[in-house]
Amino acid sequence: MTDVIKFEKHGAIGVITIDNPPANALSFAAKKGISDNFQACLKDDTCKGVVITGAGRMFVAGADISEFGKPTPEGYPELENNIRDIELSPKPVVAALNGLALGGGMELAMGCHYRIAMPAVSVGQPEVHLGFIPGGGGTQRLPRLVGIERALEMIVGGNPIDAATAVEYGALDEIVEGDLVARAIELAEQLADSGEAPRQTGAQTDKISDVDPQIFEDWRKKIAPKSRNMESPFECINTVEASTKMDIVEGLAFERETFVRLMMTAEAKSMRHMFFAEREVAKIPDVPKDTPVQEIKKAAIIGSGTMGGGIAMNFANAGISVVVVDIAQEALDAGLEKVNSNYAGSVSRGRITQDKMDQCMGLISGTTEYADLADVDIVIEAVFEEMELKKKIFAELDKVCKPETILASNTSSLDINEIATATNRPDKVCGTHFFSPANIMKLMENVRTKDSSKETVATIMGLAKTLRKTGVLVGVGDGFVGNRMLHISARIAEFMVEEGALPWQVDKVIYDFGFPMGPFAMNDLAGVDVRFLIREEQKKLYGDRRQSVIIDRLYETGRYGQKTNAGWYKYEDGSRKGEPDPFTEDLIVKTSAELGFERRDFSDEEILETYLYSMINTGAKVLEEGLAIRSGDIDVVWHYGYGFPRYWGGPMFYADLIGLPKIYEKVCELSERYGEWAAPSALLKSLAEEGKGFKDYTPS
Ligand code: NAD
Repeated sequence: MTDVIKFEKHGAIGVITIDNPPANALSFAAKKGISDNFQACLKDDTCKGVVITGAGRMFVAGADISEFGKPTPEGYPELENNIRDIELSPKPVVAALNGLALGGGMELAMGCHYRIAMPAVSVGQPEVHLGFIPGGGGTQRLPRLVGIERALEMIVGGNPIDAATAVEYGALDEIVEGDLVARAIELAEQLADSGEAPRQTGAQTDKISDVDPQIFEDWRKKIAPKSRNMESPFECINTVEASTKMDIVEGLAFERETFVRLMMTAEAKSMRHMFFAEREVAKIPDVPKDTPVQEIKKAAIIGSGTMGGGIAMNFANAGISVVVVDIAQEALDAGLEKVNSNYAGSVSRGRITQDKMDQCMGLISGTTEYADLADVDIVIEAVFEEMELKKKIFAELDKVCKPETILASNTSSLDINEIATATNRPDKVCGTHFFSPANIMKLMENVRTKDSSKETVATIMGLAKTLRKTGVLVGVGDGFVGNRMLHISARIAEFMVEEGALPWQVDKVIYDFGFPMGPFAMNDLAGVDVRFLIREEQKKLYGDRRQSVIIDRLYETGRYGQKTNAGWYKYEDGSRKGEPDPFTEDLIVKTSAELGFERRDFSDEEILETYLYSMINTGAKVLEEGLAIRSGDIDVVWHYGYGFPRYWGGPMFYADLIGLPKIYEKVCELSERYGEWAAPSALLKSLAEEGKGFKDYTPS
């Protein structure tokens, strides 16, 4: 017996309690404990029925992911056999869901003959979020309980449902307001005394008979655009479809075969990596969990422009009152009006209620007076990207704010160490780099300066959580982590265009890889003028590097992107979908000639490798310079900030999948073509030579 499973006899009913904190995960030991106790109940003639429940706040949150990929130890049961034994048991088994039942937990419950739950319970099959399918009978039993459409919704969508909905669907039998286990024992006794054979989920067929196969085709079509390059969502559909064509034994075997295959795909490995990386990112080696944090009850945002308004919305959404400052009343009014219309849009789309909007708007106030900021706990500055302006503002804030107020900048590229010199509290100065649109994008690059205190770091990492963002701690450096990597790859993409590729060809390759859009479409969205200004800054910083000339030519024509209905693409009739434009092509060809390039063909493979490997090489530099703590942190930045597909695990994990020697070789080639700035990072070189991956690298 194992100590993660407790057993007690209540009269003639055996109660098995899963007690494997914090999530009651179905580890090898837990599965063995359930099986051993259950088999003992079957053998015990004084035992008439069984209850399975969980200790603490969870029933079972799922499998033990840390054991994935490890072989089951000798003598330990597989979950699906455990569940099948329970289903076939002649003695009734009642699942008493005291808390969340996800994945294997839901599957265990569905193998039981009866399922009762406390009101706040949620149940679901989230496996698709980890790149595989339910493997303990979920794809076969859930359709039998809730029908095909709802099973697809739950298994392909992967999102949990609440107890009341689960009862309505048929996934649960009863909600218990009082003593859950007492009710489960009572039920088990009644079922045993009824003399009827226990109700087996696997034997039910009424909800899976006469299903129109078109439903599966429709689902495949529906998910195709969002499931590019993925297998697991389609295999979820295939296995649910199998439940309508096979009996339970064949169906379970088919599910098993598919599950085992999917567990080993790059997709599942990558998504598993992201799952862990997202959790790891909150851990800062020298900032322990018990570091004191400052309570944030009131915030201020300086600048009510594109970013300021969105950042203010994040605070209001989290119930924190926020005051927005702008230089002139007119700018402030326009900024607050934009916030108002953003909320109104959400109300009209049914995303939030009018009440919620009123509540949020009630938390946002505006002022043109810095003196109004005396009592705020944090200030986030989001004014124009100019060092002198920012320093002036920080000096002013230092004067008017209380001594403990944290002063943060949303700068995308400026040196926050320098901004901090304008204050007498450099330990309280940091960066909180939001991504646009700030009310939507999940990423917050939290920037630690050389003087930011541990308390400041802990507070802004905690703030990210409060604002429902993913906070990644980064160091001060040109473009921090994300933009530094982006700018190198974007520039190289522009070089490819100058040398022979076309923007739409590059964009298609990057889109097909899985990004939401390619670099040129993204540039049209963010503004060609913005890219031009960044490029001007880069020229100042790195005058010796080749800089793209095509940006100048495009900028000179006034084609700034979507905002002028023309950039790399043309946008007709206010459409946001750009069309390739002969004008741009002509401009590109002329620029190539001007630069003395004989245009050549680029294969899709060359485009992809050039773009991604230069990004990865920059990531390696970021890592060796200590601007990111772990390679997984860079992956999280790229997933949440730029839409790097989860099923490739982020650029650094993708590099490990490809193998670093191949990447190193390509980067050497690029460096020969473009010069020293594109040279391979020392870290990439040494890991490649040692046959290691970024995952093996721990900074000293
Ligand atoms: P913006 O031009 O849209 O807004 C800037 C606002 O600051 C304007 O409303 C302006 O009136 C106000 N302002 C100027 N001087 C001021 C002062 N002294 N006091 C108070 N308000 C003042 O700029 P933005 O795009 O929101 O960018 C703001 C900051 O965020 C910049 O540092 C930028 O680099 C950074 N950033 C921008 C993006 C983006 O996609 N736009 C993304 C990440 C970070």
